[in-house]
Amino acid sequence: MNKVDVSSDVLVIGSGVAGLAFALKMADYANVLIITKKEKAESNTNYAQGGVAAVLSPSDSFDNHVNDTLICGDGLCEKDVVEKIVKTAPTCIKELLEIGADFNRTEDGDLDLGIEGGHSKRRIVHSDDLTGREIERALLNAVARHPSITILENHIAVNLVTRNNRCIGCYVLDKRGNMIQNFISKLTVLATGGIGRVFSHTTNPDVATGDGIAMAYRAGATIMDMEFTQFHPTTLYHPSAGSFLISESLRGEGAILTDRKGRRFMGSYNPMKELAPRDIVARAIDNELKKSGESYVLLDISMKNPDFVRTRFPGVYEQCRSFGIDITKEPIPVVPAAHYCCGGVRATVEGETGVGNLYAIGETACTGLHGANRLASNSIIEGLVCAHYTARRCRELLKKDFSLRPFSPWESGKAVDSDEMIVVTHNREEIRRLMWNYVGIVRSNNRLARAKDRIDLLTREIDKYYWDFIINSDLVELRNIVLVAQLIIESALMRKETRGIHYSLDYPNKLPIARHTLL
Ligand SMILES: Cc1cc2nc3c(=O)[nH]c(=O)nc-3n(C[C@H](O)[C@H](O)[C@H](O)COP(=O)(O)OP(=O)(O)OC[C@H]3O[C@@H](n4cnc5c(N)ncnc54)[C@H](O)[C@@H]3O)c2cc1C
Repeated sequence: MNKVDVSSDVLVIGSGVAGLAFALKMADYANVLIITKKEKAESNTNYAQGGVAAVLSPSDSFDNHVNDTLICGDGLCEKDVVEKIVKTAPTCIKELLEIGADFNRTEDGDLDLGIEGGHSKRRIVHSDDLTGREIERALLNAVARHPSITILENHIAVNLVTRNNRCIGCYVLDKRGNMIQNFISKLTVLATGGIGRVFSHTTNPDVATGDGIAMAYRAGATIMDMEFTQFHPTTLYHPSAGSFLISESLRGEGAILTDRKGRRFMGSYNPMKELAPRDIVARAIDNELKKSGESYVLLDISMKNPDFVRTRFPGVYEQCRSFGIDITKEPIPVVPAAHYCCGGVRATVEGETGVGNLYAIGETACTGLHGANRLASNSIIEGLVCAHYTARRCRELLKKDFSLRPFSPWESGKAVDSDEMIVVTHNREEIRRLMWNYVGIVRSNNRLARAKDRIDLLTREIDKYYWDFIINSDLVELRNIVLVAQLIIESALMRKETRGIHYSLDYPNKLPIARHTLL
């Protein structure tokens, strides 16, 4: 072994809910190394507002939650996966409470359960409207208390290393030291989150560049259902706001959508009006904007008691106020944005990917829970449940005699000419814009073909860069973004129907048999 090699029983890539929950469940049995590409809390998890879906009320049932999930998934959910995740969800909530997660409670001390679009019952456990931050806090605290878990921040996984279709570790770039090291592991777990940054408008933070999906694809794993990008209907429209999400739960609590003239429009799209599944709401807004030529619509909760609004939605209230909007008095300007990747690395609930010793959990994985559309608040719970089952599987595996397998060091390219880095930035912006314009909420053969031509060209250009220059994290992410864009376009071209959140002008109908897209 090279003296700069780093070794562990289990290498976890990513410190969101899935990676942290998995690490906690492994740490009594193995030494666990978590790498994360920025600060440890920076993740999609940390920005989740609405909450976590689980059956916790006597007026609800597993069947209800399963049915709501299946309806939303539009024929493409794997029913056994849905049942397993739904039935394990309450245990995972209990475990979060045990490690100190602080969720809202009613006056009687029961968990205060919210409701969101597509759910037939109140089952959303939440911590005001900052649920992800609270979960991330609780998990990070528990991880910090465990002596067998190490977290390395500012370490970005570059490429998985396989031998005979078995993962033996990963090349990792230490962003501070600017060097690539061999991270050798018995088992490797991808918990790298989403892909939102492939699109120009997104609710996701900078880290969501689809690295896990791209690395797994390069390592030979199957990638499933990538055409199903969920667009969140309501993000704050403000020139300086980035893409701040306005939670679904505002609509759950009675907020209405209107055009700029105050005309409520959801009734003409779906009988559930504002509580329709988010794809229907996103398309309705997209259609309203295309018809009117306006840049945004309005979301209004000002008819509710101001104290209720301020205490139920402190995050949204404060954020909007910082942009001069008082949501207790006036409507919020909103637009849709790319939000969640229903597809990903094809994996079982136990995280198995088809590549030996390589596991995938959380948003990076595609287990079949979401099908063609994710039911709101079903993703954090998927991360928790799959972390649970994957850890159980990995604990069993490690009982076998595993040896670490060293591999040859990374070979760097030539020096980066700083003038050339502008090309990286330019290409990234170009990919994100073209994905938004041609591979967005409403798709067509022509737009997809145009996107494919352009992405093929950019792929060749970026590949040349990748092999010719010293790697930095921008280049690693750019190479992943272009590959994920390619996977989304290929998948969208293969689906010759409209289903769930994949909406095609050329194929407006649903085919009689639902099939997964596999790449
Ligand atoms: C604004 C917003 C609101 C949401 N609201 C909800 C909600 O209310 N309920 C719900 O269920 N879901 C919600 N979601 C979705 C949910 O938050 C995510 O699907 C879930 O948290 C994903 O968890 P994860 O652990 O899989 O990934 P993440 O939490 O995204 O964590 C991924 C981790 O991997 C790291 N990483 C990525 N690539 C690399 C690399 N190459 N090397 C090293 N590290 C890497 C990242 O830095 C990060 O630490 C929301 C998402 C957003 C963005």
